[in-house]
Amino acid sequence: STAKLTTRETKSSTTFNDIAGLKEAKAEIMEIVDFLKNPKHYTRLGAKIPRGVMLVGPPGTGKTLLAKAVAGEAQVPFFSLSGSEFVEMFVGVGASRVRDLFKQAKEHAPSIIFIDEIDAVGRSRNRANLFQANDERENTLNQLLAELDGFGVNTGVIVLAATNRADILDKALLRPGRFDRHIYLELPNKKERVEIFEVHIRPLKKSKDIDIETLATLCPGFSGADIANICNEAALIAARKKEKEVHQSDFMAARDRIVGGLERKNRITS
Ligand code: ATP
Repeated sequence: STAKLTTRETKSSTTFNDIAGLKEAKAEIMEIVDFLKNPKHYTRLGAKIPRGVMLVGPPGTGKTLLAKAVAGEAQVPFFSLSGSEFVEMFVGVGASRVRDLFKQAKEHAPSIIFIDEIDAVGRSRNRANLFQANDERENTLNQLLAELDGFGVNTGVIVLAATNRADILDKALLRPGRFDRHIYLELPNKKERVEIFEVHIRPLKKSKDIDIETLATLCPGFSGADIANICNEAALIAARKKEKEVHQSDFMAARDRIVGGLERKNRITS
């Protein structure tokens, strides 16, 4: 659809307060915020501000959230695009979309470009061509590389990209001056799951019987997205039962439902 192909520019209202855990990733991303807010602080010494930052981590660990928080904290526009959109594109469309995206971002600099699922375009060329040539994907990748290189230094645009498969990316993308900075995100440990539950329970009307420690203990291996999902599902279950508040039992039921869903998903993929 054409709607899917329009460049999305949004004002992000996401802040660091919305992100729990991810202490190291947050610290690294704060530096990017400062590059956007105080570029002169760096350029006066002759430093070149990084152009591309790759966010690497399993699904649902907060890559998109971090990218939006950069835009929200620095108060700059956020232009986004998903690599998987290119897969369905007609010849020439992918490359011109990339060109357009960079043009708009430069016009609105300082700004952020976010490319989600970059592996869909940036998969190593040899790997992708083992099975079939995909000229369109390759054209798009080449355009992306050209834009990254053609970008003068210190244009005020920082490109963030996300992947959960850094190992399959074309090495050309990771060269100096391109996506040469990597920020790693991991699944949360128990303490971090407690913090993520706190963020997502905060807006709910909750009963006093809620025990976040227990919930976090019962969710090993869950991502931030899974936890956000449990919290919303718990509120839906409570609403369905016409409760006045969301109870611990609703969270437990939501957890069971999501564990069931995850197990089904794993059965399909393994
Ligand atoms: P994918 O690889 O599937 O695109 P992602 O890493 O980009 O996933 P997000 O889209 O950022 O993950 O996360 C989805 C949702 O999960 C967020 O909108 C947020 O509600 C919740 N979430 C994930 N991580 C965290 C976190 N560290 N703190 C708070 N909420 C989180």
